[in-house]
Amino acid sequence: MSSKLKVIVNILLLAVLLVGCSAKADETSKEDKQAAVEPEAPIALQGAMDVEISEFLKAMGEYKEETHGNYSFYIGEIEDVPVVVSRTEVGMVNAAASTTLLIENYHPKAIINQGTAGGHDPDIHVFDTVIGTEVINIGSFRSEHLDEGKGMAPETWIHMSTDVRKDDGETEELTTLPSDPALVEAAKRASDEYEYGKVTEGVIGSADWWNREIDRIQWFHENFGTSAEEMEAFAVAQVAHVMNTPYLSLRTISNSEVTDDGIEDLEKAGQYGAEFTIDVVKEIAE
Ligand code: SAH
Repeated sequence: MSSKLKVIVNILLLAVLLVGCSAKADETSKEDKQAAVEPEAPIALQGAMDVEISEFLKAMGEYKEETHGNYSFYIGEIEDVPVVVSRTEVGMVNAAASTTLLIENYHPKAIINQGTAGGHDPDIHVFDTVIGTEVINIGSFRSEHLDEGKGMAPETWIHMSTDVRKDDGETEELTTLPSDPALVEAAKRASDEYEYGKVTEGVIGSADWWNREIDRIQWFHENFGTSAEEMEAFAVAQVAHVMNTPYLSLRTISNSEVTDDGIEDLEKAGQYGAEFTIDVVKEIAE
């Protein structure tokens, strides 16, 4: 081979090599790009009981069920919005445990805790929905000393705040916890769609209690401004607060001792609340 030809062959070889390399580089960058597009974080929708989440499962159509410690999570989409539906089970401890598992496993961009509740406000009727701008633990009290035989005096109980440890290691004393303002705004925008009663803003009281004593209910309403009581919201709000996840409380009244509605219907209230929550999800996603 002449030296001229050798040079040409070498140049050609080099060109082939370079084209090969750049094609490969192209492929890699495509893969890199795909890996870099993180899946969108879901919105978490919680309900304690099946009647509070069944509307979500219907709206999802197809979903994947996963369990963590016997708490069920349903992963799918509602109207193209990624959601994880969580059945928290009833009560504060279940709510806290399942919320911790929810955040650790699914990193939701927002948590909506919703479901049924008992009315505390005579102006709020069965099937009205309360946007819980604030939540309070109405199972957290201390009493003053009373001698033996002096009976029990719940109306003198003093509310006890909740201490939580902040990111900077300091503790913070919480009396109430707010819902995330942007999520509250989304819920307010969805309010016009609600056809089963009115949507109102209010304070939600949580405890492992179902109160039917009217004096006690009025005492909560007057002293803590509660619109309704239920058994999960504050526990969820506390965990969400500590784990830096935006939180929203929504509750649909299923029973009330302080109106003459004479209805107790967890099933219907569960359905209506979940329907409203879906409208809120759409507002958040817009
Ligand atoms: N299977 C249970 C029903 C639990 S009802 C039983 O009958 O034993 C409690 C659930 O309904 C809780 O998740 C709570 O959040 C909600 N709830 C509805 N109305 C309530 C009320 N008046 N007081 C407390 N919780 C209420």
